[in-house]
Amino acid sequence: MRPVIALVGRPNVGKSTLFNRLTRTRDALVANYPGLTRDRQYGVLRHHGDSAIVIDTGGMGEETDGPGAAMHEQAGAAIAEADTVILIVDGQTGVSSGDEEIVAQLRGRGCAVHVAVNKSEGLDKNLVCADFHSLGIAAVHAISALRGRGVDDLIDAVFRDVYARRSQPHKAPEQAGVNGLDEGVDDQVAAPRGAVSVAVVGRPNVGKSTLINRLLGEERVVVYDQPGTTRDSITIPFECAGQLYHLIDTAGVRRRARVDEQVEKLSVIKSLEAIDRANVVLLVSDAREGITEQDAHLAGHVLEAGRALVLVINKWDGLEPDQRLKVKRDLDRRFAFLEFARRHFVSALHGSGVGLLLESVDLAYAAANRDLPTPELNEALHKAIAGHQPPLSRGRRIKPRYAHQGGHNPPRIVIHGNQVQRLPAAYGRYLERFFREEFQLQGTPVRIEYRASD
Ligand code: GDP
Ligand code: GDP
Repeated sequence: MRPVIALVGRPNVGKSTLFNRLTRTRDALVANYPGLTRDRQYGVLRHHGDSAIVIDTGGMGEETDGPGAAMHEQAGAAIAEADTVILIVDGQTGVSSGDEEIVAQLRGRGCAVHVAVNKSEGLDKNLVCADFHSLGIAAVHAISALRGRGVDDLIDAVFRDVYARRSQPHKAPEQAGVNGLDEGVDDQVAAPRGAVSVAVVGRPNVGKSTLINRLLGEERVVVYDQPGTTRDSITIPFECAGQLYHLIDTAGVRRRARVDEQVEKLSVIKSLEAIDRANVVLLVSDAREGITEQDAHLAGHVLEAGRALVLVINKWDGLEPDQRLKVKRDLDRRFAFLEFARRHFVSALHGSGVGLLLESVDLAYAAANRDLPTPELNEALHKAIAGHQPPLSRGRRIKPRYAHQGGHNPPRIVIHGNQVQRLPAAYGRYLERFFREEFQLQGTPVRIEYRASD
């Protein structure tokens, strides 16, 4: 399971600057998919082949300055879920009573704490750290979230610490992928052979449990139950039409022991874990509530993880035609970046539409794992170029020359040629749509990567 790192600190110390730096793999996607926004609270950090979930507690609740308000309730709940807290302090102002207060609140919580002395660019590393040793925390690192100074070392130390406490070997740097979207995504999915792992994710109360119970309806054989921990989701294996599925249940259908409200809010962490483990994600939203910001963030996480996706718009029963129209408009607007995913309008309560979901899951799974033979890929590339010439860059035509498949799940298509890295995002989207049609890649994100040969 991935470590969870919470960023805490007084307002304005640089939490969100650090958060953005740590989770910036999203930036490339944001540029590629208009309408996709960052989740300002939860992100995934990728670091030399390791990954962790990062929570910016500054984005939680209201920013309050007064004493006692240094750490609000939600931040407290985030910390309860965290393996490691990075306490960010301001190196330019020195230790403040607010910092001390936060340290007092962190005491006895059993998570590792690292102090990151931020805004330390241009300051003497040792001197600036010395000041903060008075907080009584051993691990003190000088960083500049803005410039990036010291951030790598900080994260190295955090991972080393996490793995030491779990007594697992820390991945050697030579095993590491690059910090970016093109690292080997293939082997991130630990799906049991033959079974399709399906994560059911969505905000609380959208109907996930109801849907899972429907999916597990009589004709399907539930193979066995597994115990789970708080953060862990339970996997429910079942069979349908000869295919084995592992349903990753973030809703706690099989364990409705009343989780307290704060843990419920942190179901985002659970969802991120489930998305990571899944082959296909069923993202459930509530037609009565419309498509919310939180739905869009979850969808963004699915896209970022490169998972195959099926959209489930639940509670479709009893809606007026104008309400239905509004939901569809909402979907077009908020989920514009998910045009590859099939949409199902269902009623988990009454069962209507639910029977078709697994078919879409199968299609999306097949698409995500499809082999794209090089000759056909090149034929498609040249057809795409003939249909729509790439623009000029620095007075020369950008010339994609050939393509090959770089990986599966999601399919990665690597395009080589002159200046291909300068292809505008819109042209990349055109290519993506073209390949998607050509190879029936419905239901899965497709990554286009460029290798310049000049
Ligand atoms: P938060 O309230 O803790 O999330 O703080 P922000 O990330 O919003 O940062 C507050 C201010 O500090 C912003 O103006 C940032 O640009 C600035 N800041 C953040 N990191 C650094 C840094 O490393 N050096 C300097 N000089 N300023 C920084
Ligand atoms: P979860 O928190 O996402 O697991 O949501 P639940 O499955 O517990 O459902 C939350 C509430 O929505 C319950 O009261 C359900 O009965 C109700 N609900 C679930 N699906 C539907 C549906 O398709 N139509 C309607 N009208 N209500 C539903």
